[in-house]
Amino acid sequence: LASRMKKTGAEVVKTLMKNGIMASMSDVIDFDTAAIIAEEMGCKVEKEVIVTIEEKLIDTAEDKAEDLIDRAPVVVVMGHVDHGKTSLLDYIRSAHVVDREAGGITQHIGAYQVEVKGKPITFLDTPGHEAFTAMRARGAMITDVAILVVAADDGIMPQTIESINHAKAAEIPIIVAINKMDKPEANPERIKQQLTEYELVAEDWGGETIICPISAKTGEGVDNLLEMVTLTAEMRELKANPNRSAHGAVIEARLDKGRGPVATLLVQNGTLNQGDVIIAGTAVGRVRAMQNAQGETLEHAGPSVPVEIIGMAEVPQAGDDFHAVADERMARELAEQRKHDQKMASSSALGKVTLEDLFSQIQQGEVKNLNVIVKADVQGSAEAVKASLEKISNEEVRVRVIHCAVGAINESDVMLASTSGAIIVGFNVRPDSNAKISAARDHVDMRMYRVIYDCIDEIEAAMKGMLSPKF
Ligand code: GDP
Repeated sequence: LASRMKKTGAEVVKTLMKNGIMASMSDVIDFDTAAIIAEEMGCKVEKEVIVTIEEKLIDTAEDKAEDLIDRAPVVVVMGHVDHGKTSLLDYIRSAHVVDREAGGITQHIGAYQVEVKGKPITFLDTPGHEAFTAMRARGAMITDVAILVVAADDGIMPQTIESINHAKAAEIPIIVAINKMDKPEANPERIKQQLTEYELVAEDWGGETIICPISAKTGEGVDNLLEMVTLTAEMRELKANPNRSAHGAVIEARLDKGRGPVATLLVQNGTLNQGDVIIAGTAVGRVRAMQNAQGETLEHAGPSVPVEIIGMAEVPQAGDDFHAVADERMARELAEQRKHDQKMASSSALGKVTLEDLFSQIQQGEVKNLNVIVKADVQGSAEAVKASLEKISNEEVRVRVIHCAVGAINESDVMLASTSGAIIVGFNVRPDSNAKISAARDHVDMRMYRVIYDCIDEIEAAMKGMLSPKF
């Protein structure tokens, strides 16, 4: 500062002292202090504004209300294995995709759009919450509504509960589809009863959850379900601006032998055009051709439209965001920078919560809630642990159990922990091998206990910064 003002260090220190700041020449002073001192010494200070390539390249201007139009909702289908997710997606696709000259053969590109009474709906057609969570883990918030499929002859199962908690964590509305109603043993009332335990109370039971009985096999009730999706979406007033460069997320991507990198993109805002230069994560390219799920070639894709594109130089990752940009050279530069940043980030586990450094994170105001996932061998202890944990909140932190279930710790638990900044506690259960690998990779803190008291004790200690280090 002294040299910039063409003064000596001693003069600056003296002025600081006059203002009651006892600093030596090796101390660091903040901008506001420097500004006051400089003024006093007859200089004018200006904050240096550093514009990053990202800011130069990517248009992040807010949309004006008058530019916005309605966009289709983006729907994910979740639920327990074998409850009929794939059957439902297949039924909707075959019943509602308008067959045009392409011959009506729809291909799997990861998402498709249908029209119901003139209103479009976009479905992610990779069923299950794995894809959904993997995307959320990478920061992509792409879904507007979740359809939770529950088989009427089976009821709520572990992955049903996982799906509910994933949708809740993502703060998207859940519409329940009670499937397999064509089966004689179907018992929808029992399922409505079970759902109340997860704060999903049917409308005819005095709640607000839309519950649609359907059969993915006969198609009975599916139209009603789709109308409910449209209604729910309308209440959310989903809007986008088609008149700007496209921005969205990568749904799927792979390397095709003949065509090179192939990626399915979901446009979330703006319009993607054939010929556009795009950057998706660390991959750059030009959209050489675009197709929808019916194999039709498109020149433009507006908001909520999923398209498969070719022309990327590398395969992007599912969940990456993409932007159409004006300057290809700068886009390459940004991609290089992101690659570098990723390398740096993977060597440190930023933003992750662990009991070890919980206290310092609390002190720095980084943590207000301690999110916990509880897995136990029996329902009774899972519930008991949940209740005890939620009682130990103090003024600085609140303990929130975001998922509580019976069974071994699996990969889905780790993904939920990773996206929600949660720790996992297990009682008389162990992580399976995939969970172990993911937890190590994503730096998720997992702790196993045999006694509830030990767990409470350890978390309380961590909240007070009194946890003894683990060796
Ligand atoms: P996913 O694992 O949730 O994707 O479930 P699938 O869609 O693969 O369905 C699992 C099994 O249930 C398959 O054998 C389907 O044929 C059957 N299934 C799905 N929906 C229905 C339905 O509405 N009624 C009957 N009876 N069977 C169904």
